[in-house]
Amino acid sequence: MTDANESNTRFIFITGGVMSGIGKGVVTASIGKVLQFRGFNISVVKIDPYLNVDPGTLNPIEHGECFITEDVWDFTPVPESDERCYKISEIDQDFGTYSRFLGIEMHPSHNITSGQIYLSTILRERKGKFLGKTVQLIPHVTSIIKKRLMAISESENLDVLLIECGGTVGDLESSIFLEAFRQIKLEYPHRTALVHVTLVPYSRAVGQQKSKPTQHSVKMLQSVGLQPDIIIGRSEKPLADDIKSKISLYSNIPEAAVISNPDLDVVYELPLLFEEQGLGDFLCELIDLKAKLVSYSEVTNYSEWVKMVELYKNASKTVRIAMPGKYFNISDSYISINDALEHAAAHQGYKTELKMINITEDTNIEEVLRDCDGILLTPGFGERAVEGMIKSAEYAMEKKVPFLGICFGAQLFYIAFCRKYLGLTGANSSEIVTDTPYPVVDLLESQKDVTEKGGSMRLGAHKIIIEKNTKLFNAYNQKEIKERFRHRYHIQERFITEEAKQKGMIVSSRDETGKIINSIELNRDDHWMVGTQFHPEFKSRPYAPSKLYFDFIKACIAKKAGNI
Ligand code: GLN
Repeated sequence: MTDANESNTRFIFITGGVMSGIGKGVVTASIGKVLQFRGFNISVVKIDPYLNVDPGTLNPIEHGECFITEDVWDFTPVPESDERCYKISEIDQDFGTYSRFLGIEMHPSHNITSGQIYLSTILRERKGKFLGKTVQLIPHVTSIIKKRLMAISESENLDVLLIECGGTVGDLESSIFLEAFRQIKLEYPHRTALVHVTLVPYSRAVGQQKSKPTQHSVKMLQSVGLQPDIIIGRSEKPLADDIKSKISLYSNIPEAAVISNPDLDVVYELPLLFEEQGLGDFLCELIDLKAKLVSYSEVTNYSEWVKMVELYKNASKTVRIAMPGKYFNISDSYISINDALEHAAAHQGYKTELKMINITEDTNIEEVLRDCDGILLTPGFGERAVEGMIKSAEYAMEKKVPFLGICFGAQLFYIAFCRKYLGLTGANSSEIVTDTPYPVVDLLESQKDVTEKGGSMRLGAHKIIIEKNTKLFNAYNQKEIKERFRHRYHIQERFITEEAKQKGMIVSSRDETGKIINSIELNRDDHWMVGTQFHPEFKSRPYAPSKLYFDFIKACIAKKAGNI
């Protein structure tokens, strides 16, 4: 490699075999955790081999939620040129998992897509950066991939950079990234390790776990010049000893390098299970890392993590939250929200039971909401399920059910209020009905000239100025906070008339200019109903729940106990 990596960063590559969706993100985060227990400064890169520049334009039904970062990145496909840049803050949902496990903020440039790599390659060619050369996958595309990885390892002074490759080995799309891994392994043999995560299915017919799919995927890896150092087998139950030795024999790795990854009730337990199996020490030996002295911190300390896992295991009572909306074909569409609810509940001794209601024209809203202790109205785009979501907000207002509306959910709460209490029949968001008589939710000023899709919403973290004597202030106990946004439309203040105020509508926070409403709530002592234009779920951590979600769950628990 021409640009030698000056730092001493170790690289751990994580690939997947057999099929996708087996929790590679959780494995990556858990490997990061066992390294943090040893005091190492680590970070994670996720490679997504699809051609989208970022996942912001993907369908959450297919791909899960978009995670929003604190910073918005100006991605310049051709550095030092007049070529335009692209705003990126919407990244793969695995970053939510990494942040929750590791408590670190990762810059959006840590999510590398094929779209970014090919855009860089082709636009560089047009700028004459490869003059005289035939531009090829090897070495030109691989070199751009390697430069992206090296830039991160060098600028962030990392001990270890974990690099997870999305998809499964054998996918045409990911092969160029595997080739880049092969080259880095060749250049830095003592500083690299490859962890392969596979599925080990259980055959009921023969009453055995089966290693064959793993053997095949290891062969596939070997055929592109990559030898796994460690294999992590995902299975319902821990891997049986004979299966471990079979995988070891066929994959050409010691038995100690075959690690079990069984289904768990509390995902945060996985790093502890890895420790029990000696993964941390094995890995450190492999890449020649000597454990550092760990300073005390609730995030990186082993015994603190053990305590936290206990807290989750001991949460025994249940609080049932309804989530009326759409996109419920895969549970990942709102994973940060689900997890934020879980964190808030566990720290109050509860488990959450999420009742995800896929609203159709036939849904009887009253009936489906009746048995719930609280309602969370989800973020979203477009008109499907909207009327049912508005009715759900109305139900919460009328029956005084604790309610939290996130972004779209807050906007629909506002619409419900305007229709029901202000008599504004047909009030709507101009996103849903362009010629609504009462556009109570309308485009942000800054969005009026935006024509492009992808990275063009109001994104990233912004300052929020909170009004005193509000439920929002009670939750945060701070006048100024920073939370993350992803929207084009917003609540219109001109409809908050004297009458609206009398009927209980309050603006509880705004942006720094005072022009954008960031949250609303009902001014009621006997009812907790809050809607935020921002997404506090992205900052919720298992050891430090979001304060707003915490108060929402507190209200739900009180409602369940009949205390309000
Ligand atoms: N569609 C709405 C908007 O663009 C809400 C977005 C969201 O829920 N994140 O403002």
